[in-house]
Amino acid sequence: MGTLEEMDADGHEQVVWCRHRPSGLRAVIALHSTALGPALGGVRFKPYGTEDEALRDVLRLSRGMTYKNAAAGLDLGGGKAVIIGDPRALRSEALFRAYGRFVHGLSGRYLTAEDVGTTIDDMALIRRETPYVTGTATQLGGSGDPSPATAVGVLHAMHAVAERLWGDDDLTGRHVVVSGVGKVGGAVAGHLVEAGAKVTVADIDADRVGAVATAIGADVVAPTDAHTVPCDLFSPCALGAVLTAATIPELRCAAVVGSANNQLGEEADAERLAQAGIAYVPDFVANAGGVINIAEELRGYDADRALHAVGAIRATTAAVLATAEAEGITTEAAANRIAERRIDAVTGLGRIRA
Ligand code: NAD
Repeated sequence: MGTLEEMDADGHEQVVWCRHRPSGLRAVIALHSTALGPALGGVRFKPYGTEDEALRDVLRLSRGMTYKNAAAGLDLGGGKAVIIGDPRALRSEALFRAYGRFVHGLSGRYLTAEDVGTTIDDMALIRRETPYVTGTATQLGGSGDPSPATAVGVLHAMHAVAERLWGDDDLTGRHVVVSGVGKVGGAVAGHLVEAGAKVTVADIDADRVGAVATAIGADVVAPTDAHTVPCDLFSPCALGAVLTAATIPELRCAAVVGSANNQLGEEADAERLAQAGIAYVPDFVANAGGVINIAEELRGYDADRALHAVGAIRATTAAVLATAEAEGITTEAAANRIAERRIDAVTGLGRIRA
């Protein structure tokens, strides 16, 4: 399939191929939709095997950002970029500044940010060429590390689930298993203990999980067994593809609410969770705190205001759960539907001239 045909398949607006020989930059920027506003999404730096693989990834990821940003209630569209190559071999000032110039050439239609393989220091280099970069350090007027906001957002989603399932948003006495206690999961576990929940933690890093468990008074379980522990909420905060045909029958929780990206192994897993009677909060709804935090940069970043804005995740989660039940669809489909309806509604405003 040619690039234009691939773009047609999912309704992408624009794909930009970028090449700067002296620095070795080979990049693709994909804008899926600017219907709600500038397309925001990170830049992934990865040694893709082929250009086709890179193109498919950037198209898939940019489409995902349209849904994530729309469901989060942001005035932002969806975009993503990939830099093709090994970051350890290619990372340089010139490469990121060259990438920044290409981003600048899009005149603000695309806002870039950190992603897998790129760092906050890379964003600072891009910032020297263009203002159209988000997630820079607080010293540069940016919002810094999004993890605390992401963790707070996961907590909001958990409160909404509690309200829906048990008629009370209080998490006191609820048992939550947090798998992966890194930047987000560690903070989620801490907030849960403060909220009165009983917490069990897991991580492949034995030192880290030991330190977190001691600091907050949590039980520890082996990472391979985390999803099988009988509990109220299971919170995947490590890798993707944890919810599969193999693991879903082993779940002993009422709901899944975590920060990990791409939690479903495949589309059919959303249906498997629904069939098992497990309330699943789609990952892109539960982990939107990071992007909501970054979006605050566009109005002049203020940490308190950003944390307040992250609270919108509670209402979004409630709407997703209610829509899924009312329309007899999976929560994943409900979240997509909510995003699409919002895009249609806001696009419809275009007929009113100011
Ligand atoms: P992190 O690297 O700080 O933490 C991940 C933790 O998971 C590490 O402690 C690691 O040892 C552990 N881990 C790895 N494999 C594991 C396994 N199989 N079982 C249990 N633990 C395992 O990353 P993070 O920033 O906390 O992000 C966690 C997840 O949330 C990722 O999927 C990330 O894409 C997603 N996410 C993060 C943010 C953010 O603001 N940081 C925003 C949106 C989504």
